[in-house]
Amino acid sequence: MAALEFTRRYAMAHRLLADPASKCAVPHGHNETVVVRLEPHAAFRFGGSNALAPFDAVKGRWHRWIDDHVDHALQLRADDPLIDFFREREPQHLARVMTFPGDPTTEALAACFWLKLSAFLEDETLPYLVSQVRIEETPTNAVIMTREGFDADGCGMDAQAWPRRADMSINDIA
Ligand SMILES: [Zn+2]
Repeated sequence: MAALEFTRRYAMAHRLLADPASKCAVPHGHNETVVVRLEPHAAFRFGGSNALAPFDAVKGRWHRWIDDHVDHALQLRADDPLIDFFREREPQHLARVMTFPGDPTTEALAACFWLKLSAFLEDETLPYLVSQVRIEETPTNAVIMTREGFDADGCGMDAQAWPRRADMSINDIA
């Protein structure tokens, strides 16, 4: 069976704190595109629907999550003091904050996308595995996560953390 690719656009904001002198330490945004590539469990064979699953079944939940939860979210590291600001002053906006262990880089986002989409596919027992996540952060910068570059089991993300859950969550803020 053929591999599938799905593309979605979203707007986001983040800030990176590892280098306090970087201009990335101030909240700022990007209009990004994510392209996910899915490899089928089985090779193509003629017969019946000639597809392992309808496209809508494979991409529907993924695109709903991107559109309704990732789009316009603020991406922060889990220990960013801005989270306390929202908790104390604007708790109604906490659901729009996406959290990461460490800086919310595009690499970290690609890894979280990989885990979330994998959780969706597994939850719906769809016969596909994620084989690549490509994020175009700007028209000139892209991050490409491949199976060689990403070990989903050994990446250090907690087993119960939001990227591993097949729900619509984007953080673990209580
Ligand atoms: Zn940025």
